[in-house]
Amino acid sequence: MEDQGEILIAVLRMGHRPQRDKRITTHVCLVARAFGADGVFLWRKDEKIKENMDKLRKTWGGDFFVEFKSYKKVLSEWKGIIIHLTMYGEKIDKIDEIREKCKDKDILIVVGAEKVPPEVYEKADYNISIGSQPHSEVAALAVFLDRFFKGRYLYREFEDAKMKIIPSPRSKTVIEKSFKS
Ligand code: SAM
Repeated sequence: MEDQGEILIAVLRMGHRPQRDKRITTHVCLVARAFGADGVFLWRKDEKIKENMDKLRKTWGGDFFVEFKSYKKVLSEWKGIIIHLTMYGEKIDKIDEIREKCKDKDILIVVGAEKVPPEVYEKADYNISIGSQPHSEVAALAVFLDRFFKGRYLYREFEDAKMKIIPSPRSKTVIEKSFKS
């Protein structure tokens, strides 16, 4: 990215409960990928989510990762900046300061499901709210990434994608790319 260079942006999805949260965790992964992150760490193993994201990647491109790792390990091993999204945090108006601070540092964005343990609030460099009303980890992540990248990734294209959508006022226009082997 233009002013962010070659940094890694990962999302730590806390508290994934395979039965209950399958759909919303998949949406966390989809939003992370579409809005500019490189991958998601899932606290609990859920091969189905990884399979779905691998399948999506084959058609739509990129090298987005889904990795299973305990949140304690991710947090303790992370060398860059940690940003926890919570309705109790400071206002997103701090985004310019955060962008500046993250210029040459990897970023871990933490989102929750149920109650997030206090150690996450303590370990985070920033606890950031996207408004002070409770809503959703998917919405919070989308708004944060969009503000962070100033909308740059909304029409993101992946070089190795097999399908490409041509924005259209009425119809579904999709072109299938052919690749030379
Ligand atoms: N009590 C939670 C909290 O601390 O934000 C709300 C639980 S909500 C179902 C699940 C996750 O969505 C939260 O852990 C947080 O990451 C995200 N979230 C919800 N509302 C948010 C807000 N207003 N600002 C930032 N993140 C939010």
